This record gives sequence, C-alpha cells and structure tokens, in this order.
Amino acid sequence: MIKERGKILVIGGGISGITTALEASEIGQDVVLVEKSPTLGGRVSGFHQYFPKLCPPTCGLEINYRRLRANPHIQIHTNSEVLSLSGDAGNFKVKIRKNPTFVNEKCVACDHCTAVCPSERFNDFNEGMDKTKAIFLPNNMAYPPRYVVDRPACEPGCSKCVEACKYGAIDLDMQVEEIEIQVASVVIATGWKPYDAKKLKNMGFSSVPNVINNIMMERISSVSGPTKGKILRPSDQKPVESIAFVQCAGSRDENHLPYCSSICCLGSLKHANYVLEQNPDAKIYIFYIDIRTPGKYEDFVAKVQTKPNVNMIKGKVAKIIAGENGGVLVEAENILNLEKVRLDVDMVVLATGMEPNLKGQEGIAGIELDENGFVPMELQQQGIFSTGVAKWPADVNSSIQDSTGAALKAIQTSIGN
Ligand SMILES: Cc1cc2nc3c(=O)[nH]c(=O)nc-3n(C[C@H](O)[C@H](O)[C@H](O)COP(=O)(O)OP(=O)(O)OC[C@H]3O[C@@H](n4cnc5c(N)ncnc54)[C@H](O)[C@@H]3O)c2cc1C
Repeated sequence: MIKERGKILVIGGGISGITTALEASEIGQDVVLVEKSPTLGGRVSGFHQYFPKLCPPTCGLEINYRRLRANPHIQIHTNSEVLSLSGDAGNFKVKIRKNPTFVNEKCVACDHCTAVCPSERFNDFNEGMDKTKAIFLPNNMAYPPRYVVDRPACEPGCSKCVEACKYGAIDLDMQVEEIEIQVASVVIATGWKPYDAKKLKNMGFSSVPNVINNIMMERISSVSGPTKGKILRPSDQKPVESIAFVQCAGSRDENHLPYCSSICCLGSLKHANYVLEQNPDAKIYIFYIDIRTPGKYEDFVAKVQTKPNVNMIKGKVAKIIAGENGGVLVEAENILNLEKVRLDVDMVVLATGMEPNLKGQEGIAGIELDENGFVPMELQQQGIFSTGVAKWPADVNSSIQDSTGAALKAIQTSIGN
C-alpha cells in the first residue's frame, strides 16, 4: 500500500539525475527535475564513446529520453536553477528560476533560423573549439530538442530568426520566470566539471598550442565535434601521429585536487584507442604515477596497454613547452630507470580530474558540501540525498546504481517511511 506521496525534487539532469527521476516516477511518484543548462544529458552527451561497452552516448541516452517522453509524472525545467530550499523532510519549499531560452515548445528544430542568423558565439558544447550561430541547438541529442538563443551574442536590434521561423517559436522578449513548489525530498545530482588546467602552470594549457584536456579530446574525437570526429591537432589540423597523455594532471596533489578521480586512467586508455582506431601507426605515450582502474575494467587496460605503439612511462611530467612546427615538447623522468625523457609529439592531452560543479558556489541553501565541494550523504539533513559525481567521482555504471538507490531513499521519505 502506498500512502499519499509528496513530490521529489531532482537537481541536475545528467545520467544520475535522469536515472533518479525515471526510477522514482515509473512507480507513480511525481518528480520535478531541474537542469541548469538548456538540455539534459550532462557530461555523457559529450563523449565520443563510453565504456564499458564503448558505445556512443546515444545508446544510453536515447532510451532514457524515450522513457522521459512517455512519463506523465516528471516535470522537467531546463535552463533553470534552484534559488532556495527551506523546510524539513516531507515538506521542503523550493524556489526555481527558469531562465529564458527565447524559444518555446513550438520549435520543431527545423534549423531555418540558423541560416538567417548573422551572429556567432563560441560553442561551449565543443569546449570553445568552434562556433555556432547565436541561435543554436545545444547538441545533436538535445532534450528537449529545442533551439536556444544566446542573447548577448545577438546583433543589436536583429530579429531575423523571428521572421524566418514558420512556427512562431522564437520570442526574443521572453522573461525570467520564478516558481515555487513544495516537495517531500530532494536528490542532488549536479555532477562535475574538468579541473581548470590553466591552474597547472608548468603544463602549457592555453599557452602552448596543441595542449588540450581530456574533455576536449572527447569532443575532437566525436562525429558531432569541431573536426567531425577526425583527430587533428587544433593549431593546423594536421592528423595526429604522436600523442602524449599526462595522467593525474592536477589530481592527487594537495595544491590542486587532493583526491583521485578514479576514471582518468581509463579515460586516457580509451582516448589512446580512439587515436589507434584512426591511425594504427600512431605513437602513444602515457605518463602515469600508477594506473588506477576499478576492477571490472582491468581487461580493457591490459588490452590497450599491450598494443605495440602504446608506451607506458611511469613518471610525473615536469614541463610542457612549445616545440617546432606546432609540436609539443614533454619533459619527465622515468622513475623505473631514472632516465630523463624528452619527447616531441603532435599533441598533449592533460588527464584532468573531476571537480564537483557545486564547489566554490555558495551552494543551494540546506546542502552541505565537504572540503572538496562534494555532497556527502552523512552531512545532509533528513530528506536530502546525493548521487553520482555530485557525491564522489564515479563512472556511469556506478552512478546509475547509486541513483537507483537515491530514488528509493527519496521515495521512502516521500511516503513517510
Ligand atoms: C575524461 C573522462 C572520460 C570519461 N569517460 C567515461 C566512460 O567512458 N564511461 C563511464 O562510465 N564514465 C566515464 N566518465 C565519468 C562520467 O563522466 C561520469 O560518471 C558521469 O558524467 C556522471 O554523471 P552525473 O549525472 O553524476 O554528472 P554530470 O554528467 O556532470 O551531470 C550533471 C548535470 O547536472 C547539471 N547541473 C550542474 N549544476 C547544477 C545546478 N546547480 N542546478 C541544476 N543542474 C545542475 C549539469 O548541467 C549536468 O547536466 C569519464 C570522465 C572523464 C573525466
């Protein structure tokens, strides 16, 4: 017997938030899902492929979007933020701000608007490596599949997209909306961002051409990325023939991120695979402290690191500087033979760790962060739960399992058990 139930608020619409919302709502629980960006999907939607199956993000997200479309119990607010949260388990008051996207639900994503738009903006989905028009679809799997206008990027007074839209879907005067709701429990699924590699002074990020981070590598490898999936070095579009991966770039370091993100070693081995799939003769160098991979991925590690062109070098990189003709020089010491290593490669990928999105923000009232910005369950008041990478670094499978558990806990609070 299910008693009368209060709603569940899920904050963050990545794989963890989507899973929590679906698992709770598919037993009839009402859920409000609040996502800050204009589309659901979180980091997974930006991957070229993701392990364990190394399939494209569509294989996991499509089925979830289908479940969302069919579900009458989930109310989704994208481009929205939780402004305040007060009260107790069973009775939280929540204020939500819905930021305008300037495009309404009549949009059919026909793309006629971009043809007439005269302005461009850096494409944040591709980490700024290319541009979109000021009116754009956030990505090719956007949910909802609806365009968005970056108003500050528009030419003053321009309304060409409004005139081109046959569906009356564009409203350049759309205003911010604030709504208040009451919920019984809250799940935080706000995820992560890559550690800012500009803080690593000796690693050349943003000062040396062709030094990128691991998220840029995902986008460069993806067919929907800036190079349509061809792994080319950014400065001159030369196909990459040699590449170095720098593990623990800022991780396990008291001056940056003191913890291990547990996923970056696998990430780089996956990236090595991307390169070798396009160019089996490419030379791969992976600089590491120690390779850390959760148990079930050991086979993948063994398979990649024993490939003939994959060179594993145990040692921390000391310096990265510009080489000749767009090359990058990497200096390190191999601690197994104490030899100095100096390599000239086409491109360097810094394997930066996962930093929680809530770190450094004042946070949402009522949510307690630990010293690294994560949302540990033991610090939360009753009725507030956390899941996925908002809670601690994790892969997709673990995040999904965790989120199913979070849904169950939130339901128990909602029905007063
Ligand atoms: C280089 C790299 C490669 C990886 N590759 C793999 C892989 O191949 N396989 C694998 O299993 N794992 C991989 N991972 C890990 C994977 O990215 C995470 O497990 C996954 O993203 C966790 O999902 P999440 O929903 O918890 O967080 P996210 O994906 O970060 O989603 C969080 C969502 O919350 C939203 N949000 C943030 N703040 C707010 C707010 N205040 N209010 C509302 N919404 C907010 C964000 O916009 C986002 O949509 C990789 C990680 C790295 C670093």
